[in-house]
Amino acid sequence: MDGQALKMGNYLVAYRLADKEQYAIENITTRQVIIVNRMMLEKFRHAIRENEPDSLFESGKLGEGLQAGGFILPQQTSELEIVRMEEMQNRFGHPEYMELWIAPTYNCNMACVYCGQHHVAEKGVMSEEVQEAIIKYLRPTFPEKKIASFCWYGGEPLLEPEIILRLGRQIQKLAEKHDVETWHRIITNGTLLNDATVSILRELNIKHAQVTVDTLP
Ligand code: SF4
Repeated sequence: MDGQALKMGNYLVAYRLADKEQYAIENITTRQVIIVNRMMLEKFRHAIRENEPDSLFESGKLGEGLQAGGFILPQQTSELEIVRMEEMQNRFGHPEYMELWIAPTYNCNMACVYCGQHHVAEKGVMSEEVQEAIIKYLRPTFPEKKIASFCWYGGEPLLEPEIILRLGRQIQKLAEKHDVETWHRIITNGTLLNDATVSILRELNIKHAQVTVDTLP
C-alpha cells in the first residue's frame, strides 16, 4: 500500500466450493480467483459493504494479492473503461479477424448460486431491433474481414433456438456473400440439448460447445 486512495472492484462474485469451508471470490474482469475461508469472506464482504479496502491490508499479504488481482483498485480507476478498451482491442486488434458474442437471452432454466444475471422472462430476450442492429453492424464490417468468430451465450442461449437459427442464418448468408470464414461456438448448460436444438447447431456448423453444469435448480 503506497498511500493512494483505494476502492473495491465492482465486478466481484463469491461462491462456495464443494468443500463447504472454502469460498472462491472471482474478479470477472481480470478472471482472477482467490480461495478464502469463511472468516476472510466475511472480512471481504465487510470491506465491500463499508467501502473499506484498507481493512484488507491488515491480514498479512492478502491486501497486496488482492490489489495485484484487481480486486482492490486505485480510486480513480474506471473498470468499465478497461472492459471497453479490451473490447475495442479485441475487435480492432487484428484487422482481418473479428469476434462477436451474442446472447439471445439472459434468461435461464437453472439457478446457479453465483449467477450475476437477472432472469426476467419478458425483458431478457433479445429484441428484433437488436437482431437487426447486429446484421446492420456486420454489413460494412464483413467486407474487411477474413475470419469471424461468434460465441452464442446467455443466460441459456438454447431457450431461444429460433433466434439462434434466424440470426445465425442471416450471418451465414452475409458471410458467404463476402467470403468470410465463420466459426461458431456456444456456451450452454446442456439441459436443452436435444435432436431439435442439435440440428440447429449443426446447421450453423457449431463445432465447439462449452457445457457448463454448475448447479441444479
Ligand atoms: S447456467 Fe449460467 S446463466 Fe444459468 S443460472 Fe447458471 S450461471 Fe446463470
